[in-house]
Amino acid sequence: MIYFDNSATTAPCDAVIKAATEELTSNAAFGNPGSLHKLGVDAKKRYASYHDECAKLLGCAPEELYFISCATEGANTAIRGALAANKRAGKTIISTRTEHKATLSPLEELAQEGYNVVYLPVGSDGIPSEETFEQALKDNDDVALICLTYVNNETGAKLPDDIYIELRKKYAPNALCYVDFVQALGKVPCDLRLCDMASFSGHKIHSVKGCGLLYVSKDAKVKPLILGGGQQDGMRSGTESPFLASLFTAALSEAYANMDEAYGRVAGINRYLREELAKRNVTVLSPDNAIPFVLNVSFPDFQSETMLHCLEMYDIYVSTVSACTSKSKKVSYVLLEAGVPQKLASNAVRLSFSRYNTMDEAAKFIEAVDDIYDKFLVRK
Ligand code: PLP
Repeated sequence: MIYFDNSATTAPCDAVIKAATEELTSNAAFGNPGSLHKLGVDAKKRYASYHDECAKLLGCAPEELYFISCATEGANTAIRGALAANKRAGKTIISTRTEHKATLSPLEELAQEGYNVVYLPVGSDGIPSEETFEQALKDNDDVALICLTYVNNETGAKLPDDIYIELRKKYAPNALCYVDFVQALGKVPCDLRLCDMASFSGHKIHSVKGCGLLYVSKDAKVKPLILGGGQQDGMRSGTESPFLASLFTAALSEAYANMDEAYGRVAGINRYLREELAKRNVTVLSPDNAIPFVLNVSFPDFQSETMLHCLEMYDIYVSTVSACTSKSKKVSYVLLEAGVPQKLASNAVRLSFSRYNTMDEAAKFIEAVDDIYDKFLVRK
Protein backbone atom coordinates (compact mmCIF):
# COMPACT_ATOMS: atom_id res chain seq x y z
CA MET A 1 0.00 0.00 0.00
CA ILE A 2 1.12 3.53 -0.76
CA TYR A 3 -0.62 6.00 1.51
CA PHE A 4 -0.48 9.58 0.28
CA ASP A 5 -3.54 10.80 2.20
CA ASN A 6 -1.92 11.86 5.46
CA SER A 7 -3.76 15.19 5.62
CA ALA A 8 -7.00 13.22 6.00
CA THR A 9 -5.64 11.00 8.74
CA THR A 10 -2.49 9.08 9.63
CA ALA A 11 -1.69 5.56 10.78
CA PRO A 12 -0.81 5.25 14.49
CA CYS A 13 2.98 5.10 14.90
CA ASP A 14 4.79 2.45 16.97
CA ALA A 15 5.25 4.83 19.92
CA VAL A 16 1.47 5.31 20.06
CA ILE A 17 0.75 1.60 19.91
CA LYS A 18 3.31 1.06 22.69
CA ALA A 19 1.78 3.83 24.79
CA ALA A 20 -1.69 2.35 24.27
CA THR A 21 -0.57 -1.05 25.47
CA GLU A 22 1.23 0.37 28.47
CA GLU A 23 -1.65 2.64 29.44
CA LEU A 24 -4.20 -0.16 29.10
CA THR A 25 -2.21 -2.83 30.89
CA SER A 26 -0.43 -0.86 33.61
CA ASN A 27 -1.59 -1.40 37.12
CA ALA A 28 -4.67 0.64 37.89
CA ALA A 29 -4.65 2.27 34.45
CA PHE A 30 -8.42 2.56 34.43
CA GLY A 31 -8.58 4.88 37.42
CA ASN A 32 -10.66 8.03 37.13
CA PRO A 33 -8.37 11.07 37.59
CA GLY A 34 -11.23 12.66 39.54
CA SER A 35 -11.34 9.94 42.22
CA LEU A 36 -9.90 10.63 45.65
CA HIS A 37 -8.48 7.17 46.23
CA LYS A 38 -5.08 5.88 45.15
CA LEU A 39 -6.26 4.72 41.73
CA GLY A 40 -7.56 8.20 40.99
CA VAL A 41 -4.47 9.93 42.33
CA ASP A 42 -2.24 7.75 40.14
CA ALA A 43 -4.38 8.45 37.08
CA LYS A 44 -4.33 12.19 37.83
CA LYS A 45 -0.54 12.13 38.11
CA ARG A 46 -0.19 10.41 34.76
CA TYR A 47 -2.67 12.82 33.19
CA ALA A 48 -0.73 15.81 34.57
CA SER A 49 2.50 14.37 33.23
CA TYR A 50 0.99 14.30 29.70
CA HIS A 51 -0.02 17.95 30.07
CA ASP A 52 3.53 18.75 31.19
CA GLU A 53 5.17 16.90 28.32
CA CYS A 54 2.97 18.48 25.64
CA ALA A 55 3.50 21.93 27.17
CA LYS A 56 7.25 21.45 27.12
CA LEU A 57 7.21 20.44 23.47
CA LEU A 58 4.85 23.23 22.42
CA GLY A 59 6.51 25.94 24.48
CA CYS A 60 3.64 26.95 26.75
CA ALA A 61 2.46 26.37 30.32
CA PRO A 62 0.69 23.06 31.14
CA GLU A 63 -2.31 25.06 32.42
CA GLU A 64 -2.71 26.53 28.95
CA LEU A 65 -3.41 23.14 27.37
CA TYR A 66 -6.63 21.13 27.39
CA PHE A 67 -7.07 17.62 26.05
CA ILE A 68 -10.09 17.53 23.76
CA SER A 69 -11.72 15.05 21.40
CA CYS A 70 -10.69 16.62 18.09
CA ALA A 71 -9.64 19.90 16.50
CA THR A 72 -13.24 20.60 15.49
CA GLU A 73 -14.09 20.75 19.17
CA GLY A 74 -11.07 23.01 19.67
CA ALA A 75 -12.15 25.41 16.93
CA ASN A 76 -15.72 25.59 18.23
CA THR A 77 -14.58 26.14 21.81
CA ALA A 78 -12.04 28.80 20.89
CA ILE A 79 -14.32 30.73 18.53
CA ARG A 80 -17.56 30.54 20.49
CA GLY A 81 -15.83 30.70 23.87
CA ALA A 82 -13.74 33.77 23.05
CA LEU A 83 -16.76 35.75 21.87
CA ALA A 84 -18.93 34.63 24.79
CA ALA A 85 -16.31 35.65 27.33
CA ASN A 86 -15.59 39.01 25.70
CA LYS A 87 -19.04 40.24 24.72
CA ARG A 88 -18.05 43.88 24.71
CA ALA A 89 -14.90 43.37 22.65
CA GLY A 90 -16.65 44.02 19.35
CA LYS A 91 -18.81 42.52 16.68
CA THR A 92 -16.32 41.89 13.89
CA ILE A 93 -14.52 38.63 13.15
CA ILE A 94 -11.79 38.46 10.51
CA SER A 95 -11.09 35.22 8.71
CA THR A 96 -10.86 33.73 5.19
CA ARG A 97 -13.12 31.49 3.13
CA THR A 98 -10.35 28.90 2.84
CA GLU A 99 -10.60 27.84 6.48
CA HIS A 100 -11.55 24.29 7.36
CA LYS A 101 -15.26 23.70 7.97
CA ALA A 102 -14.45 23.38 11.68
CA THR A 103 -13.93 27.15 11.58
CA LEU A 104 -16.26 28.14 8.73
CA SER A 105 -19.39 26.51 10.14
CA PRO A 106 -19.28 28.26 13.53
CA LEU A 107 -18.48 31.53 11.72
CA GLU A 108 -21.51 31.10 9.46
CA GLU A 109 -23.68 30.59 12.51
CA LEU A 110 -22.19 33.64 14.23
CA ALA A 111 -22.91 35.74 11.13
CA GLN A 112 -26.55 34.68 11.43
CA GLU A 113 -26.48 35.78 15.04
CA GLY A 114 -25.42 39.27 14.02
CA TYR A 115 -21.62 39.18 13.96
CA ASN A 116 -19.90 40.96 11.09
CA VAL A 117 -17.67 38.25 9.60
CA VAL A 118 -15.11 39.74 7.23
CA TYR A 119 -13.64 37.12 4.90
CA LEU A 120 -10.33 38.28 3.52
CA PRO A 121 -9.70 37.33 -0.10
CA VAL A 122 -6.72 35.05 -0.62
CA GLY A 123 -4.22 35.43 -3.44
CA SER A 124 -2.93 32.74 -5.78
CA ASP A 125 -0.60 31.84 -2.91
CA GLY A 126 -3.69 30.79 -0.93
CA ILE A 127 -3.23 33.33 1.86
CA PRO A 128 -4.50 36.84 2.52
CA SER A 129 -1.89 39.49 1.73
CA GLU A 130 -0.49 41.76 4.39
CA GLU A 131 -2.16 44.73 2.65
CA THR A 132 -5.59 43.07 2.65
CA PHE A 133 -5.20 42.13 6.28
CA GLU A 134 -4.13 45.66 7.22
CA GLN A 135 -7.02 47.19 5.28
CA ALA A 136 -9.58 44.98 7.04
CA LEU A 137 -8.15 45.96 10.42
CA LYS A 138 -8.24 49.65 9.44
CA ASP A 139 -11.82 49.39 8.14
CA ASN A 140 -13.18 47.73 11.27
CA ASP A 141 -12.55 49.27 14.67
CA ASP A 142 -14.46 46.58 16.59
CA VAL A 143 -12.52 43.41 15.75
CA ALA A 144 -13.07 40.88 18.52
CA LEU A 145 -11.62 37.79 16.92
CA ILE A 146 -9.26 36.75 14.13
CA CYS A 147 -9.38 33.15 12.86
CA LEU A 148 -6.67 31.86 10.57
CA THR A 149 -5.22 28.53 9.49
CA TYR A 150 -1.45 28.27 9.62
CA VAL A 151 -1.19 25.52 6.99
CA ASN A 152 -4.07 24.86 4.62
CA ASN A 153 -5.18 21.23 4.55
CA GLU A 154 -5.90 21.12 0.81
CA THR A 155 -2.95 22.99 -0.68
CA GLY A 156 -0.33 23.21 2.09
CA ALA A 157 -0.31 27.04 1.75
CA LYS A 158 1.37 28.48 4.83
CA LEU A 159 0.81 31.85 6.46
CA PRO A 160 3.85 34.08 7.08
CA ASP A 161 5.85 32.90 10.11
CA ASP A 162 4.77 35.92 12.17
CA ILE A 163 1.02 35.44 11.46
CA TYR A 164 0.77 39.23 11.02
CA ILE A 165 1.37 39.84 14.71
CA GLU A 166 2.65 43.40 14.31
CA LEU A 167 -0.46 44.45 12.37
CA ARG A 168 -2.68 42.81 14.95
CA LYS A 169 -0.88 44.61 17.77
CA LYS A 170 -1.06 47.92 15.93
CA TYR A 171 -4.70 47.96 14.87
CA ALA A 172 -6.54 45.47 17.08
CA PRO A 173 -4.48 44.89 20.23
CA ASN A 174 -7.49 43.56 22.13
CA ALA A 175 -8.72 41.15 19.46
CA LEU A 176 -8.11 37.49 20.25
CA CYS A 177 -6.47 35.37 17.59
CA TYR A 178 -7.33 31.72 17.00
CA VAL A 179 -4.95 29.73 14.81
CA ASP A 180 -5.69 26.28 13.39
CA PHE A 181 -2.34 24.49 13.61
CA VAL A 182 -3.75 21.07 12.69
CA GLN A 183 -1.78 20.53 9.48
CA ALA A 184 1.34 22.23 10.77
CA LEU A 185 1.87 20.23 13.93
CA GLY A 186 4.95 18.02 13.84
CA LYS A 187 5.86 19.31 10.39
CA VAL A 188 6.87 22.91 10.95
CA PRO A 189 7.36 24.87 14.19
CA CYS A 190 4.11 26.12 15.75
CA ASP A 191 4.84 29.28 17.73
CA LEU A 192 2.05 29.62 20.27
CA ARG A 193 3.30 33.04 21.39
CA LEU A 194 1.82 34.38 18.14
CA CYS A 195 -1.79 33.55 19.04
CA ASP A 196 -4.22 33.38 21.94
CA MET A 197 -5.89 30.09 21.08
CA ALA A 198 -4.92 27.16 18.90
CA SER A 199 -6.09 23.66 18.11
CA PHE A 200 -4.30 20.43 17.29
CA SER A 201 -5.56 17.02 16.24
CA GLY A 202 -4.08 13.68 17.28
CA HIS A 203 -5.08 11.66 14.25
CA LYS A 204 -3.11 13.95 11.93
CA ILE A 205 0.17 13.24 13.75
CA HIS A 206 0.11 9.43 13.89
CA SER A 207 -1.99 9.17 17.04
CA VAL A 208 -5.63 8.03 17.05
CA LYS A 209 -8.97 9.65 16.28
CA GLY A 210 -10.64 10.98 19.39
CA CYS A 211 -7.80 13.02 20.86
CA GLY A 212 -6.68 16.59 20.33
CA LEU A 213 -5.34 19.57 22.15
CA LEU A 214 -6.66 23.09 22.69
CA TYR A 215 -4.30 25.89 23.65
CA VAL A 216 -5.70 28.92 25.44
CA SER A 217 -3.20 31.54 26.56
CA LYS A 218 -3.39 32.34 30.26
CA ASP A 219 -4.06 35.97 29.26
CA ALA A 220 -7.10 35.12 27.13
CA LYS A 221 -10.60 34.88 28.51
CA VAL A 222 -12.50 31.98 26.93
CA LYS A 223 -15.78 30.45 28.11
CA PRO A 224 -15.98 26.67 28.01
CA LEU A 225 -18.24 25.10 25.42
CA ILE A 226 -18.80 21.86 27.31
CA LEU A 227 -20.16 22.21 30.81
CA GLY A 228 -20.28 19.48 33.42
CA GLY A 229 -18.04 18.24 36.19
CA GLY A 230 -15.50 21.05 35.80
CA GLN A 231 -12.57 18.87 34.77
CA GLN A 232 -9.46 20.50 33.26
CA ASP A 233 -10.02 23.71 35.24
CA GLY A 234 -13.59 23.85 34.00
CA MET A 235 -12.50 24.54 30.43
CA ARG A 236 -13.36 21.08 29.22
CA SER A 237 -15.68 19.07 31.38
CA GLY A 238 -15.97 15.32 30.91
CA THR A 239 -14.04 12.52 32.60
CA GLU A 240 -10.37 12.96 31.76
CA SER A 241 -8.83 10.18 29.73
CA PRO A 242 -5.20 9.48 30.60
CA PHE A 243 -5.34 6.84 27.85
CA LEU A 244 -6.12 9.32 25.04
CA ALA A 245 -3.82 11.96 26.52
CA SER A 246 -0.98 9.43 26.53
CA LEU A 247 -1.61 8.58 22.88
CA PHE A 248 -1.57 12.23 21.88
CA THR A 249 1.59 12.86 23.89
CA ALA A 250 3.42 9.84 22.48
CA ALA A 251 2.66 10.95 18.92
CA LEU A 252 3.66 14.55 19.59
CA SER A 253 6.89 13.56 21.22
CA GLU A 254 7.77 11.25 18.31
CA ALA A 255 6.86 13.90 15.74
CA TYR A 256 9.03 16.52 17.43
CA ALA A 257 11.97 14.14 17.72
CA ASN A 258 11.81 13.50 13.97
CA MET A 259 10.65 16.87 12.65
CA ASP A 260 13.80 18.05 10.84
CA GLU A 261 14.57 14.67 9.33
CA ALA A 262 10.93 14.28 8.22
CA TYR A 263 10.87 17.72 6.59
CA GLY A 264 14.00 16.97 4.56
CA ARG A 265 12.78 13.57 3.45
CA VAL A 266 9.32 14.82 2.46
CA ALA A 267 10.79 17.85 0.68
CA GLY A 268 12.81 15.40 -1.45
CA ILE A 269 9.70 13.37 -2.30
CA ASN A 270 7.75 16.52 -3.14
CA ARG A 271 10.55 17.83 -5.40
CA TYR A 272 10.84 14.54 -7.23
CA LEU A 273 7.08 14.30 -7.80
CA ARG A 274 6.83 17.91 -9.01
CA GLU A 275 9.61 17.24 -11.56
CA GLU A 276 8.18 13.96 -12.79
CA LEU A 277 4.59 15.20 -12.93
CA ALA A 278 5.62 18.35 -14.81
CA LYS A 279 7.07 16.11 -17.55
CA ARG A 280 3.56 14.61 -17.84
CA ASN A 281 1.76 17.95 -18.15
CA VAL A 282 0.32 17.71 -14.67
CA THR A 283 -0.35 21.16 -13.19
CA VAL A 284 0.80 21.82 -9.66
CA LEU A 285 -1.95 23.69 -7.76
CA SER A 286 -0.15 23.99 -4.42
CA PRO A 287 1.45 27.43 -4.24
CA ASP A 288 5.19 27.99 -3.81
CA ASN A 289 4.74 28.84 -0.12
CA ALA A 290 3.14 25.45 0.54
CA ILE A 291 4.85 23.13 2.97
CA PRO A 292 6.13 19.99 1.21
CA PHE A 293 3.75 17.69 3.08
CA VAL A 294 0.87 18.63 0.76
CA LEU A 295 1.03 18.53 -3.02
CA ASN A 296 -2.18 19.39 -4.84
CA VAL A 297 -2.02 18.61 -8.55
CA SER A 298 -4.39 18.58 -11.51
CA PHE A 299 -4.14 15.69 -13.98
CA PRO A 300 -5.05 16.39 -17.59
CA ASP A 301 -7.98 14.32 -18.93
CA PHE A 302 -8.94 12.75 -15.59
CA GLN A 303 -11.53 14.10 -13.19
CA SER A 304 -10.41 14.03 -9.56
CA GLU A 305 -12.55 11.12 -8.50
CA THR A 306 -11.71 9.01 -11.55
CA MET A 307 -7.99 9.42 -10.85
CA LEU A 308 -8.52 8.64 -7.16
CA HIS A 309 -10.22 5.34 -8.01
CA CYS A 310 -7.70 4.48 -10.75
CA LEU A 311 -4.88 4.91 -8.22
CA GLU A 312 -6.82 2.84 -5.71
CA MET A 313 -6.55 -0.11 -8.10
CA TYR A 314 -2.78 0.12 -7.58
CA ASP A 315 -3.26 0.19 -3.81
CA ILE A 316 -2.37 3.90 -3.79
CA TYR A 317 -4.48 6.21 -1.63
CA VAL A 318 -4.92 9.93 -2.27
CA SER A 319 -7.83 12.32 -1.92
CA THR A 320 -9.83 14.76 -3.96
CA VAL A 321 -10.99 17.60 -1.73
CA SER A 322 -10.63 17.45 2.05
CA ALA A 323 -11.97 14.27 3.62
CA CYS A 324 -14.93 15.92 5.31
CA THR A 325 -16.27 17.46 2.11
CA SER A 326 -15.21 14.76 -0.36
CA LYS A 327 -18.54 12.94 -0.21
CA SER A 328 -20.43 16.00 -1.46
CA LYS A 329 -18.54 15.65 -4.78
CA LYS A 330 -18.04 19.38 -4.96
CA VAL A 331 -15.02 21.04 -6.46
CA SER A 332 -12.70 22.33 -3.74
CA TYR A 333 -13.79 25.74 -2.44
CA VAL A 334 -10.22 26.30 -1.29
CA LEU A 335 -8.86 26.03 -4.82
CA LEU A 336 -11.62 28.15 -6.32
CA GLU A 337 -11.05 30.86 -3.70
CA ALA A 338 -7.36 30.94 -4.66
CA GLY A 339 -8.37 31.59 -8.26
CA VAL A 340 -7.73 28.11 -9.68
CA PRO A 341 -9.87 27.74 -12.84
CA GLN A 342 -12.86 25.39 -12.46
CA LYS A 343 -11.51 22.96 -15.08
CA LEU A 344 -8.18 22.53 -13.28
CA ALA A 345 -9.89 22.36 -9.88
CA SER A 346 -12.25 19.62 -11.01
CA ASN A 347 -9.24 17.44 -11.86
CA ALA A 348 -7.44 18.17 -8.60
CA VAL A 349 -5.90 15.41 -6.54
CA ARG A 350 -4.29 16.01 -3.16
CA LEU A 351 -1.19 14.00 -2.30
CA SER A 352 -0.26 14.38 1.36
CA PHE A 353 2.80 12.86 2.93
CA SER A 354 4.13 11.84 6.29
CA ARG A 355 7.56 11.00 7.62
CA TYR A 356 6.91 7.35 6.79
CA ASN A 357 6.67 7.88 3.01
CA THR A 358 9.67 6.99 0.88
CA MET A 359 11.22 7.90 -2.49
CA ASP A 360 10.55 4.36 -3.60
CA GLU A 361 6.83 4.94 -3.07
CA ALA A 362 7.03 8.18 -5.03
CA ALA A 363 8.68 6.34 -7.94
CA LYS A 364 5.98 3.64 -7.82
CA PHE A 365 3.33 6.36 -7.83
CA ILE A 366 4.76 7.78 -11.05
CA GLU A 367 4.85 4.30 -12.61
CA ALA A 368 1.19 3.84 -11.69
CA VAL A 369 0.28 7.21 -13.22
CA ASP A 370 2.00 6.24 -16.48
CA ASP A 371 0.21 2.91 -16.48
CA ILE A 372 -3.14 4.58 -15.87
CA TYR A 373 -2.64 6.92 -18.83
CA ASP A 374 -1.58 3.99 -21.02
CA LYS A 375 -4.46 1.77 -20.03
CA PHE A 376 -7.42 4.04 -19.45
CA LEU A 377 -7.00 7.08 -21.60
CA VAL A 378 -8.39 6.95 -25.08
CA ARG A 379 -6.27 9.63 -26.71
CA LYS A 380 -8.04 11.77 -29.25
N1 PLP B 1 -8.48 21.92 10.69
C1 PLP B 1 -7.81 21.41 9.66
C2 PLP B 1 -6.87 22.28 8.88
C3 PLP B 1 -7.98 20.07 9.30
O1 PLP B 1 -7.31 19.55 8.27
C4 PLP B 1 -8.89 19.27 10.05
C5 PLP B 1 -9.16 17.88 9.67
O2 PLP B 1 -9.26 17.55 8.51
C6 PLP B 1 -9.55 19.86 11.13
C7 PLP B 1 -9.34 21.19 11.42
C8 PLP B 1 -10.50 19.08 11.99
O3 PLP B 1 -9.78 18.14 12.72
P1 PLP B 1 -10.50 16.96 13.52
O4 PLP B 1 -10.67 15.85 12.54
O5 PLP B 1 -9.56 16.62 14.62
O6 PLP B 1 -11.78 17.50 14.02
